[in-house]
Amino acid sequence: MAVTSLRGEVSDLLSRLIRVDTTNPPGNETAAAELLRDYLEENGVECELYARVPERANLVARIRGSGGGPSLLLLSHTDVVLADPSEWSVPPFSGEVRDGEIWGRGALDMKSQVAASAVAIASLAREGFSPAGDLLFAATADEESGTGFGLEWLCEEHPDAVRCDYAVNEGAGDRLELAGGVYYLCSAAEKMSAPFRLRVHGRSGHASMPGIADNALVKAARLIERLAAYRPEPQLQPEVEGFLRTVLGEVPSPGSVLERARDVHPTAAEVVEPLLAMTLAPTIISASQKRNVIPALCEIVVDCRLLPGQHPAAVEPVVRAVLGGDVEYDLEWLEAHGGTRSPLDTPLWHAVEEFVAATEPGARAAPICVAGFTDSHWLREAFGTVAYGFFPLRTMPADVAAQLIHSADERVPVDDVELGVEWLRHAARTICS
Ligand SMILES: [Zn+2]
Repeated sequence: MAVTSLRGEVSDLLSRLIRVDTTNPPGNETAAAELLRDYLEENGVECELYARVPERANLVARIRGSGGGPSLLLLSHTDVVLADPSEWSVPPFSGEVRDGEIWGRGALDMKSQVAASAVAIASLAREGFSPAGDLLFAATADEESGTGFGLEWLCEEHPDAVRCDYAVNEGAGDRLELAGGVYYLCSAAEKMSAPFRLRVHGRSGHASMPGIADNALVKAARLIERLAAYRPEPQLQPEVEGFLRTVLGEVPSPGSVLERARDVHPTAAEVVEPLLAMTLAPTIISASQKRNVIPALCEIVVDCRLLPGQHPAAVEPVVRAVLGGDVEYDLEWLEAHGGTRSPLDTPLWHAVEEFVAATEPGARAAPICVAGFTDSHWLREAFGTVAYGFFPLRTMPADVAAQLIHSADERVPVDDVELGVEWLRHAARTICS
C-alpha cells in the first residue's frame, strides 16, 4: 500500500467516496460499492455485490470466523441526500480536505463511517486477524429514501449474507459536556415512524359567497391547532432511564424529567424531550386548487413518531381524543416503520463503554433512543441482532454536526474519522475474538 497510516488511508478513501455522487434518488450506489470492493479485495477481504437492479448494488464483505464465536456487522449506507451547490462554499462532491476537515455531501451521513468501517476490516485483514465469529462489512443502498433496494431487501432476499449477532450502525456518537461530565451517546433503540393522513370534508362553493359553502380548510385549522397543542403524559423508556441514571446519578419521576434535564443543560432536555412520548407534527396540507373555489376537501399529513413498542392501533384512540369530536374527518395510517430496541447489558455495550473510557479519561457512554429511524430495525426484526448506533465524534461539537447533516457545507474532522477506525477495530476485536 502507498499510504503510510490508517489516518491517511481513511482520509483518502473518504474523499474518493464523496466524489462518487450517490444522491438518492436515483442513488447509483453501484459506483460506490465497486470502489469499496476494489479497495477491500486489494487488502484480501472477500466481497460480494447484491443488487436488485444493476445500478443500485449493496456490498457485503467478510472475514470468516473459525467457528463458534459471535458475528459482528459493521453497517453503513452509501447513498446521500440532495446537495444544492449554490448553498455550499465548496463543490459538494469535491471531497476536499481543508484545515483538517473533509468536506462534501455524506461527510457525516454517513460516508465517514463507510470509510472507517472499510479501513477497519481491511487493516484487520492485513494483520491476519483471525476471529472466532465472522466479521462483516455492509455498505448498503437506499437508506435515505427506503424504497426497497437496500438492507430491507437484503434481509428478505439474501438473509444469509447479512445475518449477524451484533451490528454497529449510525445513529449516535455525539459527545456532550453536561454539568462538568463528558458523555458519548450510543443509540440502542429508535422510535417508530407512523405518519397518518386526515381528510376533512366540507361543501364547495364560490369563494365570493363563503356563507353558502362549508370550508374544509377552515375546519381543518381547528384540528391542526389541537395537534400542535398536544402535551402528552411523559413515559420513561429504558434508554432514557439509562441516560438519566448516567448523567444525573438517578432516575427522576417522569413528570420532573424535563426540568431536571434542563437544570443540567438545555441540550440534555432537547435530547430527552422527543423520547418521552408519541409526537405529532402536521407537515403537509392541501385543499382547493383554485383561489375562488371554497374547498370541499382538505387533507393534512401528520408526521407521527411512536415510542418503541407502541403501535398505531393502540394510540389511535389517543389521537382521536386530541382531535376532538366536533369536526368530522377520516384518519388513515400511511405506514409504520422502526420502533425497535436492543438490550443494554450486552458485550457490545461493554465494548462501547470500554472504548469511551479509553478515548477520554472520565468520559462515559450514555444510552439513547433515536428520535428518527435507521436501518438497524431491519436487522433487529429479521435476526434479533443487537444493533447500536455509535460513531464517536470527539472533535466536532455535537450541535455543529447536527446542523450540518443533510445541510450545506457538511464536513467531518479527519481526527474523528481516524477515531472511528479505532472504535470499529476495537469493536471487532472485542466481539468476534
Ligand atoms: Zn444516514
